[in-house]
Amino acid sequence: MSPRNSPQKSPREDNDTMYELKIISQFAAAHQLREFEGECENLHGHNWKIEVTACGNSLEKNGLLIDFRVIKAATKKVLDGLDHKFLNELESFKDSNPSSENIARHIFKSLSRELNDETVRITKVTAWESDSACASYTAP
Ligand SMILES: [Zn+2]
Repeated sequence: MSPRNSPQKSPREDNDTMYELKIISQFAAAHQLREFEGECENLHGHNWKIEVTACGNSLEKNGLLIDFRVIKAATKKVLDGLDHKFLNELESFKDSNPSSENIARHIFKSLSRELNDETVRITKVTAWESDSACASYTAP
């Protein structure tokens, strides 16, 4: 029997499968890592690329998990608070280094507060500080 003839299982009833949405955004900022020996100890900037992943296993009637525009707007709001700033001076990084790890966590927490509900939740935020290095903060 070809898989095409097998009975279709509704994705709404299958808790082992999920829809995963991802949007990509960016911001530019300066930082200086304390207690760090390396290039990032000196004041400098990055163009961070931010990936935001949202998951859920049931769709709205319109076939969407959540409108991409909603995720993009919430992300823009958080990134506007970081864009063209000296990150070390922000309240969010008063007690922690503005490393890519902590930036990913800050964005994850902010977006989770804003977007998580019964059907959608933020599962991962990745902060790329260069083309070859990124840090992610995830939740199962
Ligand atoms: Zn750096």
